[in-house]
Amino acid sequence: MEVRVAEAERGERWAVIELEQVAAEVRVCPKCELARTRTNAVPGEGQPNARVMLIGEGPGWHEDQQGRPFVGNAGKFLNELLAKAGLKREDVFITNVVKCRPPGNRDPMPDEIAACAPYLDRQLAAIDPDVVVTLGRFSMARWFPGERISRIHGQAKRDGRRLIVPMYHPAAALHQAALRGAIEEDFAKLPKILAEAEKTREAETKRDEPRHDQTAMF
Ligand code: URA
Ligand code: SF4
Repeated sequence: MEVRVAEAERGERWAVIELEQVAAEVRVCPKCELARTRTNAVPGEGQPNARVMLIGEGPGWHEDQQGRPFVGNAGKFLNELLAKAGLKREDVFITNVVKCRPPGNRDPMPDEIAACAPYLDRQLAAIDPDVVVTLGRFSMARWFPGERISRIHGQAKRDGRRLIVPMYHPAAALHQAALRGAIEEDFAKLPKILAEAEKTREAETKRDEPRHDQTAMF
């Protein structure tokens, strides 16, 4: 048991260091065109051992000014949505597909998303969340290429032992009544989805535990 606790602590320390390393690289990253127009890169923020990770599209004006994700109107709405799921911002990790603001809030381009993907990969590996919520179609496309958000929003899909839940983007949902109802309902489903994901993780942890009764035979 002590070994397991020590392992968990080592894992958590590594996650903290890796996330800081990613953030430091992102802040000075020159890997795509967006580096030339950003004020501040926005690496993402939150709990290094969060069970839930949310992935948006890219920083907007306020995010670019402050270097923090979801701090404008969409961010305020996101905080309300998290509350519906019984979650606080401090409980989760929030980041974006591209870490620098596309000028005029245009869509991120495929080459920019590709250039930025290794940072998101490393954040996912460090946090190792049970549930990933994709916000909008650009983060959805990473797991559901070619899918339509109107068809699959709110439906959890397994990726290994993780559950991926595609949702509408809060900025879009904020101003469209129909989407707003949908995103509110989808967030209200999160506690159940999270409980499901945690059950799977516990079952797999048990299965991976060394079987002392059997090894004793040899
Ligand atoms: N919209 C996003 O997709 N990300 C942010 O960080 C803010 C608004
Ligand atoms: Fe680097 Fe990503 Fe910013 Fe492009 S968007 S400059 S790849 S951090």
